Amino acid sequence: MREERKSMLIVISGPSGVGKGTIYNKLLDNDPSLTFSVSVTTRGPRPGETDGIDYFFISDEEYQKLVAEDAFVEHATVHGHSYGTLKSQVEEKMEKGLNVVLDIDPQGARSVMASCPDCVSIFLLPPSYESLRQRLYGRNTDDPKEIERRLGNARGEIEQAHLYQYVVVNDNLELAYDQVSAIITAEKQRTNRFFPVVE
Ligand code: ADP
Ligand code: 5GP
Repeated sequence: MREERKSMLIVISGPSGVGKGTIYNKLLDNDPSLTFSVSVTTRGPRPGETDGIDYFFISDEEYQKLVAEDAFVEHATVHGHSYGTLKSQVEEKMEKGLNVVLDIDPQGARSVMASCPDCVSIFLLPPSYESLRQRLYGRNTDDPKEIERRLGNARGEIEQAHLYQYVVVNDNLELAYDQVSAIITAEKQRTNRFFPVVE
């Protein structure tokens, strides 16, 4: 049996604090075919975040330069800061045959879905707004003003969940992880991505 596979772009969105990072980091740990596209952002690093791993932390000037150079697959202002997906990150990783995970907001996701209709799109929902609030305060990485801004934006983001191919509720973490993992497992076997040759 010979196999060829076309790599896949996986868009994961959801309101801040829903558990996107928790779920995709576990996916990345368990599936060597997956890799993360490191975005650029003009927001400052949180304690524990590493430049080049979590984000490329850049200045407004550097960001504007990248926009002028057409370096982004998509870019958007989210919660008052600029974020963007680098073409170099996505292209280099896909050329290596890896499946690339994008953690991007609904504006960016809409843009990627339009330019890459073949992508897999997943929206994560919290079980309630109260649980989102508790997770953001419990994570303790943002100040209360920033948390309230993110909670204020959550409703508008959640209204866009129907634009995605899949919706997963992250109430029980293990169940949500299993559901996202099952989506990726199934999507890998689509006949437009998987080309087995029986010898
Ligand atoms: P996001 O990347 O969407 O902003 P995180 O992955 O950082 O969210 O998760 C926010 C917080 O919620 C973290 O402290 C994480 O441990 C916690 N969390 C994630 N999933 C669950 C869950 N199903 N139940 C309770 N807490 C969760
Ligand atoms: P955070 O500041 O919590 O890391 O991310 C805030 C929001 O920005 C999240 O909704 C996340 O999905 C989004 N985000 C992160 N990187 C990008 C990106 O490259 N493009 C877009 N459009 N959104 C991003």
